[in-house]
Amino acid sequence: AFTLAACSGGGAGSETDSTGGGDGGEMTEGGLIGVAMPTETSERWIADGDAVKSGLEAAGYEVDLQFAADDIPTQQQQIDNMITNGADALIVASIDGTTLSGQLAAAAEAGIPIISYDRLINETENVDFYVSFDNFEVGVQQASSLLVGLGVLDKDLNETGDEGPYNIELFAGSPDDNNAGFFFNGAMSVLQPYIDSGVLTVPSGQTDFDTVATLRWLQETAQKRMEDILTSTYTGTDLEGELDGVLSPYDGLSRGILNALEFTGGYPATIAEGMPIVTGQDAEIASVKLIADDVQFSTIFKDTRKLAEQSVTAAIAYLNGEEPEANNTTDYDNGVKIVPSYLLESDIVYADNIQELLIDSGYWTEDEVASGQ
Ligand code: BGC
Repeated sequence: AFTLAACSGGGAGSETDSTGGGDGGEMTEGGLIGVAMPTETSERWIADGDAVKSGLEAAGYEVDLQFAADDIPTQQQQIDNMITNGADALIVASIDGTTLSGQLAAAAEAGIPIISYDRLINETENVDFYVSFDNFEVGVQQASSLLVGLGVLDKDLNETGDEGPYNIELFAGSPDDNNAGFFFNGAMSVLQPYIDSGVLTVPSGQTDFDTVATLRWLQETAQKRMEDILTSTYTGTDLEGELDGVLSPYDGLSRGILNALEFTGGYPATIAEGMPIVTGQDAEIASVKLIADDVQFSTIFKDTRKLAEQSVTAAIAYLNGEEPEANNTTDYDNGVKIVPSYLLESDIVYADNIQELLIDSGYWTEDEVASGQ
């Protein structure tokens, strides 16, 4: 059986050999790491959780992996339990970035290093390190792919000279998720100049973050908002059938939006036949199939295996008494301090690079892409 010889913390509940061994042996690697993930409704978090767990286990650590069903009290309680059970480090992907201060204060008190995973934890000094993707750049890529789909940019992201005008609508993610603002600001940094010059128009007039945000990233909320916009702005008006594109920040929302477009908006099922250009994020398998089938135009691939690996590296650094290596120490201010960060790069997925980005890299198999599951 796995023997645990904690190097730090230890704490009640962990099965440590507290005699320290009579042979004067060295302290071995090991310890208990709590991994808190937000939800299992989006497959990326399941993949993240599995990859972090197996990476840590391969390095000789014990892992307490929990998913919180997008419920804030559940996540708070899971983290409380991790601390009580003697976690030596915490890796946390929060639901709401501002609701964990009590838990993290207790963790810091117990000397437990805290790594914020993918989403920055805000309004607390008790977050030591942040591993994520370049979230502003994700938004830039989403907006760029929308312009590629419309024909304003080519795939090298150079202007084609096409001046539209095109009608678009905007969606953002959950307002309590720090990433959502970065995605939206990144996207608007690309779109705003085209809105200002008249190449793009947002006929609903809904352009500010609070209006276009989607609490908890819920597909049905996005579907409902898209239906409402279609009914109010694109039905029985001279804009009937005239929506050209939708900025969507996450594949789950994209699927809700596509449903609304087809079933409420009466748009054809494929882009070739006139379905508006819809973007996404996460390369979820159902959406990758929709992209292969010419329904959804693009998504953003964030390789969760690489993110998991970074978080494992950071946790192990702390447990060895070292500081993890950051590649960004300026952009992620959590309201109390700038959190040293390690940011990874993402890629735009279109129908014609699914093979290269997703299948050749082993992220999805050819069969999964073909079946959408
Ligand atoms: C993640 C995205 C994900 C979204 C919804 C964000 O915090 O960065 O990858 O699409 O949450 O789960």
